[in-house]
Parts: sequence; C-alpha cells; structure tokens
Amino acid sequence: MSKEDFRRLGHDLIDWIADYFDNIDERPVLPAIQPGDLKAKLPTVAPAHGESMEKIIEDVDRLIVPALTHWCHPSFFAYFATSTSAPGIFGELLTAAFDNKAMLWRTSPASTELEEVVLDWLRQMMGLDKGMHGIIYDTASVSSLHAIAAAREGVEQRIREEGMSGRPDLPLLRVYVSEHSHNSIEKAVITLGLGQRSLRKIPADKQFRMDARALAEAINEDKRNGHIPFCIVATVGTTSTSSIDPVREIIPIGEEHAMWLHVDAAYAGSAAIVPEFRHILDGCERADSIVTNPHKWLFTPFDLSVLYCRHMDLLKRAFSLVPPEYLRTPEQDKVRSGSDYGIQLGRRFRALKLWMVMRYFGHEGLAARIREHCRLARLFAAWVDESPDWELMAPVPLALVCFRARPKSESDDGEALNQGVIERVNASGRALLSQTRLNDKLTLRLSIGNIRTTEAHVRDIWKLLNEQLAIIIM
Ligand code: PLP
Repeated sequence: MSKEDFRRLGHDLIDWIADYFDNIDERPVLPAIQPGDLKAKLPTVAPAHGESMEKIIEDVDRLIVPALTHWCHPSFFAYFATSTSAPGIFGELLTAAFDNKAMLWRTSPASTELEEVVLDWLRQMMGLDKGMHGIIYDTASVSSLHAIAAAREGVEQRIREEGMSGRPDLPLLRVYVSEHSHNSIEKAVITLGLGQRSLRKIPADKQFRMDARALAEAINEDKRNGHIPFCIVATVGTTSTSSIDPVREIIPIGEEHAMWLHVDAAYAGSAAIVPEFRHILDGCERADSIVTNPHKWLFTPFDLSVLYCRHMDLLKRAFSLVPPEYLRTPEQDKVRSGSDYGIQLGRRFRALKLWMVMRYFGHEGLAARIREHCRLARLFAAWVDESPDWELMAPVPLALVCFRARPKSESDDGEALNQGVIERVNASGRALLSQTRLNDKLTLRLSIGNIRTTEAHVRDIWKLLNEQLAIIIM
C-alpha cells in the first residue's frame, strides 16, 4: 500500500468509526440474524488476487456490521457490560502499527517497562500494597490459570519436573471456590492437569458469598482424608450477582493451612479505584494474587487482564526455562522478560492502550464514570423495589442489578413469564439483557458499564421492560 493510500484510507476509516459511534444508538443491539447467515454470504475460499481496501470496507458495512452484537451500544446491559473508549482505540491502533512481540526486554523495552509502570499506577489506584507486582495476560481465565500454576509450584511436589500422572506418591491437590465462582477456575484446573475432582465448590450464604465456615470444614475434612488443600479462589464481584466473598474471613483459614489465596476480581477490581468502593478489596493485602480486567470496567478495549502476584518468583519458577541460544540476550539477568511468567513466548503490547486510557481520563475521570454507573444501577434497583410487578433477586453492591418479573401467584415459578420478558426485550433490538439462575429462579441481569450509557438509556430499558411485561400479562 502506498503511503498516500495509507493516509487517505486511515483517515476514512477513523471517519467511519466516528460515524459508527455517532449512530450506534439506532442499531439493534443484537443482530436479527440466524446462525449461518453470515457464513452463507462469504466465499468459501480466499481471494486469489488482492482486492481494494474500499471494497473490503464496503463489505464490512454490508456484511460484518449487520452480524455484530454491538457491545458498545449504550443499551447493552448483558453479561458484564463493557466498552472501549477513544484513547483505547488509538492505543490498539498504535499497538498494531508497532507490532512488537514483547517476549524479552530486548524485543520490546517499551512494552516491558511501560507494563511495569502502568500496572504500578493501577495498583496504587486500587489501593493494593507494594508487595503486589502486576503482569498482563489476555483474559482473566488465563490470569487465574497462571495464578493457580504458581500456587501449585509452591506446593513443592516437583510437579513441574515430574508432572502429575502416574504418581502414586502424589495426594489429591485441592482448590476451593464458592459455588458462584466463574467457570474459568474449573477450566484452569482441567488445563493444569489437576482435574475437575480437585475443585471443591463451597456453598454460598443467602447473599451469594462464600460461606467461610463451610470452607474451613471442607479443608479440615480434606486434610483428614490425606488430600493437599493448596489454593482458595475468592471472588470479589461474582458473575451472577457481583457478590463479594468475605476475604477477611477467608484469609485466616487459608493462612492456617499455608494455602495460596487468589482473588478473582475480574469485574469488580476496577471499582476499587473509586475511594468509596475501595473496601471491596478489604483483606487483599494478605492475598497472594488478584486478577482484575481493565477490559471489563476500565474502558480499555478487549483484551487486557492484569494479574497482581505477591510471589513473582514462584510464577517464574512455574514457567521459565533456561533460554535456548536463540533467546539469549546480554542483559537477560538484569531485566524482566514477560515470557518467563507464562505459557506464551510472544506477548502483545497491551500496556500502551491502558496507559493511554489512564492518562486521558485520569484517576478521577475513570472513578467518576464507575461511580455514575453504580448510581444508575441503584436508581434502577429502586424502581424495581418500588414496583409491585418486579422484584430484586440479590443485593446491588456495584452496577449489576438482578431482578425478575414477580409472578402473580405462589404456584407460578415465574419461569415462562421471565423467559418471555427477556426474549421480547432482546428481540426488540432496543436493549440487551442476560440472565442467570438464583435460588433456582430464572433471574434477569442488568449490568451498567458502558461509557456511553446515560440515565436516559436506563429509563428507556425500564420503560421497555414494563411495556413488554404488560403485553405478556394482557
Ligand atoms: N471471572 C469473573 C468473575 C468473570 O465475571 C469473568 C467473565 O465475566 C471471568 C472471570 C472471565 O473473564 P475473561 O473473559 O477475561 O476470561
């Protein structure tokens, strides 16, 4: 591509993106398409000859955009609502332009050092102590996997060298989570070869928080049976309800058995940058590791997850190898190389976009947006609470509201009613909600985390919910 074309097309593309955001409100949040619709419109083999960028962008408009779920739509309230931001997009653009593979300090000094600096800024903003050192991975699933690998390394059972299979000398290693933990932890124990049977799910209390007494009993029972309890994963901001496990109560239990405490704050960690929400990380000054996802609630484009770890030596021991000749560098003993701390060799230059987001908004700007999302969630929760037609299904500590349409009779479990509501709302294209199951009841989730969501959007979804409910019960 000539430099003239690059400039012209680049300007055009930024204009295209600006228009996309200007008009995003008018698009259906969820595309009205069926599985296979897009594939049917695409050629089954790659083009033999190059095509013009104009033609390609035209096809983005014609084929790709209609098949997008618009996560940046201000009425996207599903899952954990998240969104990119202008500085984050610019950061991604530059990352793609530099195309660094930050595996060794030498292959990207900027990425290596900026990552350390930016994660230290974030650590301070979240009120974490200096003993926590950050490293970036793609997702929380991968961050947690690395944390559990480091915890396993600390068990001193020569698993790195000898593995786990065919070892009659190795007792069952146990990881403890609440029944509301994210299934990424289960995937991590599968991937690490610990097996699903290593995962012990602890019941939660009425507020969906891990029951610390049940945890202590489970660990004692496992010890009596000769197992090795080695890791507890507490969740600060569970996926279903954003409940916060009682880390302060969990800490002494883990410490008594010299276990690793990993905190999954993938969603809620960002809220700790708001001074009045900092308490959600109470107790984490004694945790061994914490994951938080700036790509969830810090307006940073997917993907960017941060693992804070107190024992970088163990994380390194779990993954590093004596470098082969092709990876040796003169400064290797003086610098940190990202590839020593995980399964990847090459690493994307992700710190750049986070740095740009943090500089553009500042700590106060980011905190103000998160605070506003929490205010909007409380406002919505108050409407639900005051209405005879709806009921709250869980406390609202942050910006996620779990609620449902109240069935008209005791004998009705509300399943069909609420299924009807969510299907109609989502099919309208005007908003998107997701669901969970709490106390065996289908529950609707409204998550507010999009940078473009305003009170008007929250009023709209409330109106839409009530309109759809009225149609169903008519
Ligand atoms: N942990 C929690 C509490 C989550 O809510 C999620 C996703 O929503 C994850 C982990 C997994 O996140 P990721 O997609 O970054 O792996």
